Amino acid sequence: MQQNVRRSRGDSPVNIIGAGIAGAWQALLFAQAGHAVTLHERSDEDLTLSTSHWAGGMLAPYCEAEVAEPIISRLGLRSLDIWRRELPDTPFNGSLVVAHARERNDFERFGRMTTDHERLDAEGLASLEPALEGRFREALFFPAEGHVEPRRVLPKLHERIRAAGGTIRFNSDVRPQDLDGIVIDCRGLAARDEHPELRGVKGEMILVKTSEVKLSRPVRLIHPRWPLYVIPRENHVFMLGATSIETEDEDWCISVRSALELLGAAYAVHPAFAEARIIEFGSGLRPAFPDNLPRISVRGRRISVNGLYRHGFLMAPALAELTLRYVERGMIDNEVMQCG
Ligand SMILES: Cc1cc2nc3c(=O)[nH]c(=O)nc-3n(C[C@H](O)[C@H](O)[C@H](O)COP(=O)(O)OP(=O)(O)OC[C@H]3O[C@@H](n4cnc5c(N)ncnc54)[C@H](O)[C@@H]3O)c2cc1C
Repeated sequence: MQQNVRRSRGDSPVNIIGAGIAGAWQALLFAQAGHAVTLHERSDEDLTLSTSHWAGGMLAPYCEAEVAEPIISRLGLRSLDIWRRELPDTPFNGSLVVAHARERNDFERFGRMTTDHERLDAEGLASLEPALEGRFREALFFPAEGHVEPRRVLPKLHERIRAAGGTIRFNSDVRPQDLDGIVIDCRGLAARDEHPELRGVKGEMILVKTSEVKLSRPVRLIHPRWPLYVIPRENHVFMLGATSIETEDEDWCISVRSALELLGAAYAVHPAFAEARIIEFGSGLRPAFPDNLPRISVRGRRISVNGLYRHGFLMAPALAELTLRYVERGMIDNEVMQCG
């Protein structure tokens, strides 16, 4: 691991716009490689204007393979290595997939479409997550997956950027064309001026608090419309997520119907959630290109990294590594990069 790298490579400064998960990883890898990095963020340190603030933070390349293209798994697997290398305290204690009897066929299909899981019977599930004893007849366990808490890990990454010699400017609303040197545009959905084809896909979430349920890892509940999950956070908090709705609503609100479904999913995982306290409702717009795949677009010294859609936490480290390799060695990853 490279830490406290303060040497400057003596070439162009690197200006990165957006301190969400994409920009934070770009800034960290470039600063560690010795570039003079400045990270600009329009909001304050709480990052409430970023999609990353609302995310689940699951690092789940195997589960996501059920619906995502192979490129997501490739970038995701590489990213897991980088998360482990740079933030070794990231919890990698796996994730679980469960289903009620009526979703049995979808559960079987999930198992067929994914790899690197173990099938657990009720006893195996109870030994892994005692709170789920007697709740489900079977589960799929993905032991190599991890999860982070976005609101804790983003400040940690920002701290690491500073330790590597980078500068972060919060409350700094900038335009790519006004900056010198190499500009890496990680503005997410705000980059629609440069990428009119970007769209927002709304994800709604709820935070609840209870000391009646103890879970150590994310639990996904098979659902006919979207993957619903319960993610344990610190201090008895759980995140319930997430819907996936094609709308550009930027009101950060959630609908009554979504609230019912998310709360219903928690209750289905464990009835003790009925007494939990609701501490937050919220939503973010996932930045997505029409094919839902990430893209690194290069135009001279301006590079845009966008379209991270449902997988920003999963893919951002690998995308940063590819951008760095391009800037330093001219290496082009044909699947992700567009030059011209
Ligand atoms: C409910 C929900 C759950 C999710 N769960 C997961 C999950 O479990 N795992 C996973 O991998 N992904 C998940 N995602 C997806 C993930 O959140 C996104 O892919 C990711 O946040 C996109 O990151 P980004 O950095 O591209 O954009 P953003 O996080 O939006 O960051 C862009 C930043 O640029 C800043 N900015 C914009 N314009 C300017 C400007 N002019 N000047 C300066 N700064 C500017 C913004 O303020 C913002 O902070 C989830 C998303 C949602 C909504």
